[in-house]
Amino acid sequence: MRHRIAVVGSGPAGLTFARVLHRHGHPVTVLERDPAPDARPPGGTLDLHEGMGQLALEKAGLLEEFQALSRPEGQAMRILDMDGTVLRDWRPRPGDRTNPEIDRGHLRDLLLGPLDVRWGQGVTQVVPGTGDGVVVHLADGRQETFDLVVGADGARSRTRPAVSSVTPHYTGVTVVETSLDDVDTRHPDLARLIGEGSVAVYGVNRALVAQRNSGGHVKVYAQFRAPLEWHTDLDPADVQAVRSRLSALFDGWAAPVLALLHHGAAFAHRPLYVLPASHTWPHVRGLTLLGDAAHLMPPLGVGANLAMLEGAELAEAIATTRPGDLDEVVRAFEEQMWARAGRWAEMTMAGLDRLVSPDPAEALALFDQVQPS
Ligand SMILES: Cc1cc2nc3c(=O)[nH]c(=O)nc-3n(C[C@H](O)[C@H](O)[C@H](O)COP(=O)(O)OP(=O)(O)OC[C@H]3O[C@@H](n4cnc5c(N)ncnc54)[C@H](O)[C@@H]3O)c2cc1C
Repeated sequence: MRHRIAVVGSGPAGLTFARVLHRHGHPVTVLERDPAPDARPPGGTLDLHEGMGQLALEKAGLLEEFQALSRPEGQAMRILDMDGTVLRDWRPRPGDRTNPEIDRGHLRDLLLGPLDVRWGQGVTQVVPGTGDGVVVHLADGRQETFDLVVGADGARSRTRPAVSSVTPHYTGVTVVETSLDDVDTRHPDLARLIGEGSVAVYGVNRALVAQRNSGGHVKVYAQFRAPLEWHTDLDPADVQAVRSRLSALFDGWAAPVLALLHHGAAFAHRPLYVLPASHTWPHVRGLTLLGDAAHLMPPLGVGANLAMLEGAELAEAIATTRPGDLDEVVRAFEEQMWARAGRWAEMTMAGLDRLVSPDPAEALALFDQVQPS
């Protein structure tokens, strides 16, 4: 008999898990809170690493399609000083496909393919150990029972409390995000500043990063150390007020750099939260977590990659195991996930401390350490 498997969430983790199971002919129920795939903006571009996100796509049989959709030129990275001087201007060699970029919306559509996601099915609670299986409570009041429930429902997971009482904590770093459209035509100076990939400028306890997505769309991230309450007297919908607060925070930086903050039509406030690097839990029969739900870490280009790899690995292990061994497979997977994610969580936390640091030279040193010459 086939196991009844549900995954909560259709982000990179949940969709990769479901797609790999689907490839192996195993049915899976995908429960997603959003009412439709395009119900909200999908977020910024993702770089998928060769041995992580790309490996997951290979396991899903989607690597070739990814290669056609992705932007290897988006790997380019420029670092400027606060006065606008170019400190580094790194470009990938022709044919370099180590970490090509892909828009999140393109990745989502690629993974969705034939999957039958149940949109608008928010999960409110997951209750293990009731004999017949794990019970999932839905926002519309219905309940469903499964042999395995995989919580891939992100940072504020509603599945996590069924296995762990740990909650994410604030890192002390906040990101304010804005975006620019049609940058090559409407803001050619900024387009030149950003180049084909990303530009980053590091100052004392703050940074400005701009990343090109496809179609001339650019995401701009202002990052700074601040107490959580830094914006309590600020209306986030008052674009002029947010702009002038950010201009004050980045006072003294070169005008061409600050111009990155002057044209966005809206700002989103994203304080960075993390789970402890050592986050694990006593195994609970019929339940596990993947991706940000299991190991929320600073956004240093790893979270989605890990989420996808875990989704693919767990699905492959389930699909190739005997029906009676399901719980053993999940236990073994968790051990492997915890060890690997713990190492990345420590590295990304240390990375965040160096990128948003009292000494901007730290950020440059980190870049030189990780970027091939
Ligand atoms: C600014 C920024 C930039 C980043 N850049 C990168 C990068 O370049 N590379 C990289 O690898 N990572 C990056 N990350 C990290 C990456 O976005 C996350 O690690 C990744 O999205 C995690 O995937 P996930 O599937 O675990 O969770 P999510 O992407 O959060 O997906 C969770 C899904 O679950 C759904 N959901 C939530 N609650 C419920 C519920 N109760 N019921 C049903 N559905 C629910 C949500 O609607 C969502 O669809 C970045 C993060 C940020 C904030």
